Amino acid sequence: GVRLVLFDEGTELENEAAVAAVLVPVAVAGAYSYRVPPGMKVRPGSVVRVPLGPREVIGAVWEIETSPRVSRRKLRDILHLYDDVPPLSDDLRRFVDWVAGWTLAAPGMVVRMVLRSEEALKPEPPVSGVRRVEGAQPERMTPARARVLDLMMDGLGWTKSGLAATAGVSSSVVDGLLAQGVLEPVELPATLPPPLPEIDRPAPRLNPAQEEAATQLRAAAGGGFKAFLIDGVTGSGKTEVYFEAVAETIRKGRQALILLPEIALTDQFLDRFERRFGARPAEWHSEVPPRRRARAWRGVATGDVRVVVGARSALFLPFRELGLIVVDEEHDAAYKQDDRVPYSARDMAVVRGHITGFPVVLASATPSVESQVNARQGRYVRLELPERASGAELPEITPIDMRNNGPERGRWLAPALVGEMKAAVEDGAQALLFLNRRGYAPLTLCRTCGYRFQCPNCSTWLVEHRFRGQLQCHHCGHSQPIPHACPSCNATDTLVACGPGVERIAEEVADLLPDARVLVLSSDLPGGQERLKREMKVIEEGGADIVIGTQLVAKGHNFPLMRVVGVVDADLGLAHGDPRAAERTFQLMAQVTGRAGRITGKGKGFLQTYSPDHPVIRALLTGDREAFYDSEIEARRSSRLPPFGRLAALVVSAPDRSEAQAYARALARAAPRAGEVTLLGPAEAALALVRGRHRFRLLVMAPRAFDLQAYLRHWLKAAPAAKGGVRLQVDVDPQSF
Ligand code: ADP
Ligand code: ZN
Repeated sequence: GVRLVLFDEGTELENEAAVAAVLVPVAVAGAYSYRVPPGMKVRPGSVVRVPLGPREVIGAVWEIETSPRVSRRKLRDILHLYDDVPPLSDDLRRFVDWVAGWTLAAPGMVVRMVLRSEEALKPEPPVSGVRRVEGAQPERMTPARARVLDLMMDGLGWTKSGLAATAGVSSSVVDGLLAQGVLEPVELPATLPPPLPEIDRPAPRLNPAQEEAATQLRAAAGGGFKAFLIDGVTGSGKTEVYFEAVAETIRKGRQALILLPEIALTDQFLDRFERRFGARPAEWHSEVPPRRRARAWRGVATGDVRVVVGARSALFLPFRELGLIVVDEEHDAAYKQDDRVPYSARDMAVVRGHITGFPVVLASATPSVESQVNARQGRYVRLELPERASGAELPEITPIDMRNNGPERGRWLAPALVGEMKAAVEDGAQALLFLNRRGYAPLTLCRTCGYRFQCPNCSTWLVEHRFRGQLQCHHCGHSQPIPHACPSCNATDTLVACGPGVERIAEEVADLLPDARVLVLSSDLPGGQERLKREMKVIEEGGADIVIGTQLVAKGHNFPLMRVVGVVDADLGLAHGDPRAAERTFQLMAQVTGRAGRITGKGKGFLQTYSPDHPVIRALLTGDREAFYDSEIEARRSSRLPPFGRLAALVVSAPDRSEAQAYARALARAAPRAGEVTLLGPAEAALALVRGRHRFRLLVMAPRAFDLQAYLRHWLKAAPAAKGGVRLQVDVDPQSF
């Protein structure tokens, strides 16, 4: 018979012949049942290895089935229980279920984000070291031996190399003592717990606005759920304020997570954390090497790690006692994951805080419309920091009307801007040119026949990267050498680059200011994150005069010498049909011009534009942020767009265009009738062809209170299955609409 005794958390389950429902990392609707082999003690949350078809996978026990749906004899056994990692907590499991329910993703795909570090499950092999044998003396004492033995008075173990280096002796001295039996081999734990943040180190004296915000955060730290929006201009000291919340959270014995957009995760931030807390936080993002990820994962689970600074995926770490999440630059689009499980880390951070019961702090100089509305309606507590911490003035923003005051043909920088750059550089200050376009030119065409280079896999033009001699697609990565002759008419020397990218601006600057030290920053430069970190430091320390960059440079960095910021094409983001385009452009330009004069207060921003009367440009020039948000919020309200209505996008894709279209139409026909729901499409997606797949999109609009997930579930159950190469991706709360 089955003997099943369920206890509270903390005790184990004796489960002779029990059956466990295990979430495995595949896109199926629910958990799979496995037999628990005799003697294995699992409970909900236990991390296990199970067979799945011909493979073995890591999964998590989700529940113990008291009345298994499948006959026990047909079930396969759990292969292994990772009993030295703590089981996933109840809150984390509820969070996983919640995210799956909200995004309509398979729960297994969500749990996969939790169990990301397979290495973390294997205990690290111990390190061999040496220890002094009590009472043993060397045959002859030398000064070198004395130095070694002095270090070992406390009886603790050392690695041989660490010991020799610290004592300043050669390793043969250590070996000699070992041979004489004065030292003995010992196994040391692989890693020591990371140093704890020192929360009582002196912090900068906060100004009154900061102090008021910090007081509210300190009062909330360690307590139940509450959402805050730190709404502070660039350089107002938002970081300093939320560090106070972090300190208080640690003081209350809980862990803290600081989320940053991946690109803003720089050494500069980590250094700053270290200056404030005397220790580095654990780092979590895509470029952290596996061994360090594993340590972070384990440390978070055991509680040895108190603070994590990470990109959006850190939200799924198995914290032992999480007590605070900060989402810095909360408006940033990088918080939305688009593939597999499409989720918004900003929104899900609030959910995680709500489920477990702890405060969540969002921070931005240009909050998202959604967060603005939440703050205005009182769901989030707004903490305002209206002035720069240094007392520096915000930069003065000037438009440059390109219709009358633009450069000559074939140039992109207006004389007025060039003059300001020169003056800044002559003064020992820096200038930044912002253009959100990688490469040399966004389009190349043949002057003779009009041929345009298009990506063979995507509906986009190929971007010329002149420094590398290549034409590249920024969507699928396709690249080809720049040819000498036109592939269509064979004419030579007729190819022209149209429009500017950052490389082309760099060429122009080199021409105009030949003595200036120019640095181009763009995410596609070789060297990756490491190089980027180095170059940020170069700028910070004044090793460059002029920086030319894509949106990389807009985020989170402090460049103390930056005086002039020029937006090369302020109209670039405004041409989109997307209702979010205005918000995005406003945020990006406010952030990038906010790089100017952070310390000195003598910053100047210049917007090169053909439409100086556009509301976004006007809001930036007048600094009337509230008016801008008022009109954006009103526009959302009147068209019943988020946050006043709910949206989901269903994207159908297939290698064959007509198959994709046919399925999208069949899907639309299967949509249940509901008076409150408006269905738009299917229409060709904004990017109709990506990586060789044709895409069609259906947009579902519903009132705010409508249960969109229930509706979608009902619909997808009734809809014909996607067959062959057809794929359906459901995106609840899509970024673009
Ligand atoms: P934000 O995150 O709002 O852009 P930061 O926290 O990066 O602003 O602060 C901008 C600069 O001002 C930093 O160099 C920071 O060290 C400094 N700073 C912030 N608060 C204070 C303060 N109360 N006293 C002195 N310097 C401060
Ligand atoms: Zn492509």
